[in-house]
Amino acid sequence: MGSDLPRAESRGPILQDVPLAPLTTLGIGGAARWFGRAASAPEVVAADEWAALRGAPMFVLGGGSNLVIADRGFDGLVLQMQVSRVQASDGGENTIVVAGAGESWDGLVAFAVSRNLAGIECLSGIPGSVGGTPVQNVGAYGQEVASVIEWVDAVDRLQQKAVRLSQAECRFAYRQSRFKQEDEERFVICQVAFRLHNGGPATVAYRDLIEYFGKQHLESPSLQAVRDAVLTIRRGKGMVIDAADPDTRSVGSFFMNPVIDRAAFERFAPAPHYPMDNDAVKVPAAWLIEQSGFARGHTDGASGLSTKHPLAIVNRGGATARDIIRLARRIKTAVFDRFGIALRPEPVFVGFKDDPDVEYLRG
Ligand SMILES: Cc1cc2nc3c(=O)[nH]c(=O)nc-3n(C[C@H](O)[C@H](O)[C@H](O)COP(=O)(O)OP(=O)(O)OC[C@H]3O[C@@H](n4cnc5c(N)ncnc54)[C@H](O)[C@@H]3O)c2cc1C
Repeated sequence: MGSDLPRAESRGPILQDVPLAPLTTLGIGGAARWFGRAASAPEVVAADEWAALRGAPMFVLGGGSNLVIADRGFDGLVLQMQVSRVQASDGGENTIVVAGAGESWDGLVAFAVSRNLAGIECLSGIPGSVGGTPVQNVGAYGQEVASVIEWVDAVDRLQQKAVRLSQAECRFAYRQSRFKQEDEERFVICQVAFRLHNGGPATVAYRDLIEYFGKQHLESPSLQAVRDAVLTIRRGKGMVIDAADPDTRSVGSFFMNPVIDRAAFERFAPAPHYPMDNDAVKVPAAWLIEQSGFARGHTDGASGLSTKHPLAIVNRGGATARDIIRLARRIKTAVFDRFGIALRPEPVFVGFKDDPDVEYLRG
């Protein structure tokens, strides 16, 4: 489904040489040659045309919580999404909540929980914007956005059209979607519709949450209780952004949990794992990393691992993107040498065209 877009009548100014590090949670990276903001689909089209006229690439920035930006910055236009609005329409058992790409994700979770709408309560505390969540199908504590997304409205840069993509058309998988894979940079997400369940029940499926409520002898916690529990557990792991906690100067998990076939797993079992379909298992990357000699709190110059979680590579203060990538490379090599498993990075790398270290990490 698509529609031609009206031309934008006005658009904010395009700025030059804007430092990107302060716009990211890692706090690293050079400047954008050009920088603009878009608050509507026509403004996205106008910005795209502006960049195309100059033969410049365009990168879409959300909350900057899943990005490693090159020290040399980005030689093109960085467009930050500022589409804001939240609208809820009741439809019997479910409520459809439509949120602008520029809204804060955790603000939306808080809104849903306050309205007693179930489906995203376990995704509390994940930083970034609403528009960033479909990109890697964010997930945590037993939920992922793919299971509640109804549709995504985007600008298709290939066709210069507004399109509505159904849940199936987004091709979601574990920490993946077409937006991050085969159609990387093709779609600019403007708003997302979520189908949330009126009145709960809250999801308590993940081990940490089951243990948390087990200790409290609480069998059917409310949505608010689950949100509070997730925030508490995440804070203990340095996974809620907090300026006072240097362990949160990260992109969250740097590597995805690898899914491998059971035969490969048996070669080094016993080890923690989660059974998947098709005789495959998911192995916690954190466990593999620790077993390969990188403990939480590991330091490597200005970069290191969080003191609370071995999966978060942190900027300990003054780190460069190269420092972060060098450490990630060492970890990937150590895990491969020990287990024969090639860890894949979770964040998006910006401004690293043809960089051999980044190619190695992605391979
Ligand atoms: C402390 C911490 C904890 C985290 N915990 C989790 C977790 O539990 N689970 C999880 O899945 N992730 C987690 N993350 C990763 C991150 O928060 C999510 O991936 C988040 O959804 C990224 O959104 P963003 O708006 O910050 O996107 P950005 O980092 O700005 O961008 C990420 C990618 O999305 C694209 N993008 C962003 N907005 C749009 C748009 N409107 N249209 C098209 N493309 C867009 C960008 O171009 C880029 O490719 C964590 C990160 C941190 C720092």
